[in-house]
Amino acid sequence: MTRIAIIGAGLAGLSLAHAVRERAEVTLFEKARGVGGRMATRRADLWQFDHGAQFFTAQSQRFQSFLAPAVDAGIVARWDARFVDFDGPEPVRRWQWGADRPHYVGVPKMSALAKYLAGGLDIRLATRIGSIDRAGDAWALADESGADLGQFDWCVSTAPAPQSLDLLPESFAHRQAMADAPMRACFALMLGFDDPLPLDWDAAHVGNADISWMSANSAKPGRDTAPSLLVHSTNAWADAHIEDDPEDVTAHLIAEASRVTGNDLAGGSHVALHRWRYANLPKRDGPPALIDPANRLAACGDWCIHGRVEAAFTSAMALADELVPLL
Ligand SMILES: Cc1cc2nc3c(=O)[nH]c(=O)nc-3n(C[C@H](O)[C@H](O)[C@H](O)COP(=O)(O)OP(=O)(O)OC[C@H]3O[C@@H](n4cnc5c(N)ncnc54)[C@H](O)[C@@H]3O)c2cc1C
Repeated sequence: MTRIAIIGAGLAGLSLAHAVRERAEVTLFEKARGVGGRMATRRADLWQFDHGAQFFTAQSQRFQSFLAPAVDAGIVARWDARFVDFDGPEPVRRWQWGADRPHYVGVPKMSALAKYLAGGLDIRLATRIGSIDRAGDAWALADESGADLGQFDWCVSTAPAPQSLDLLPESFAHRQAMADAPMRACFALMLGFDDPLPLDWDAAHVGNADISWMSANSAKPGRDTAPSLLVHSTNAWADAHIEDDPEDVTAHLIAEASRVTGNDLAGGSHVALHRWRYANLPKRDGPPALIDPANRLAACGDWCIHGRVEAAFTSAMALADELVPLL
């Protein structure tokens, strides 16, 4: 059987593995200790935070069908959040999400979907690919310390575009498309409280501020955790402050969230910050996945299309559609 190495066990890597596993021997390599990539969850004492993707949509029939077993198993649920649009501190529009345009989350945490999809797959966690070198007709993968990870007929990277660009060999035919992907940064501020916050919304989009999003993480379905607030910076602010002292970033984002909500949020019992250097990107035109059959190299991920969970799946399926007939 054809041996395929997939770098990255986020949604793109996992869904690609499912699409090709009957035709190939698939091994996934993931640098983190768990699966999910940017569909990430962090637990701290009584609190839990989805500090990457907040929710996702499933507009295509193909993604809906893919998700159906996870929905039936209770791993994915609709989040009917009370939503508000803020213009600075002014709430300008409110509505409740519902069945007309479903917003989904993993249950009991965002990373649950990836964990569910990982079942039965050969995944090497805590393994950061450091090099991909020619070995006759095959690709030889090694980790950062140079330790041999085996040889593969195909190598696919689903890492964010700048990391895929660093990883894939110079001979890969689509390097420019990776170099052109305009990935943006984002800070995630995680605040945990002992008592519920006096908020009359579950999720908020924020304009005219250095923060772009807030959600009462503990209000998502299936969460049995202490009250929490998750705040995302704008991409523009994160891009400009990506190397700043984390304490300064934390203080600024708390001040912004306090200004917008009208609550002093400085007294949280738990405060943490995560820096996403490659968080998301605007919609882009171009191929939904990059395949180089002559070299048996490929790349896919949200960054081919748009910084969204569904785009990661769509890109992986576009690659699978081209790859499967070649196996
Ligand atoms: C702050 C934030 C908020 C977001 N909000 C939303 C939202 O509300 N709705 C939405 O739809 N989308 C949202 N997104 C985007 C969404 O999370 C992504 O589009 C999607 O998860 C991307 O999946 P992926 O598989 O393409 O990439 P990733 O999830 O990034 O997976 C790539 C994987 O590759 C691994 N990797 C990288 N380099 C190596 C290496 N050298 N060796 C081994 N493994 C490696 C990484 O660890 C990672 O697990 C958000 C993202 C962020 C960061």
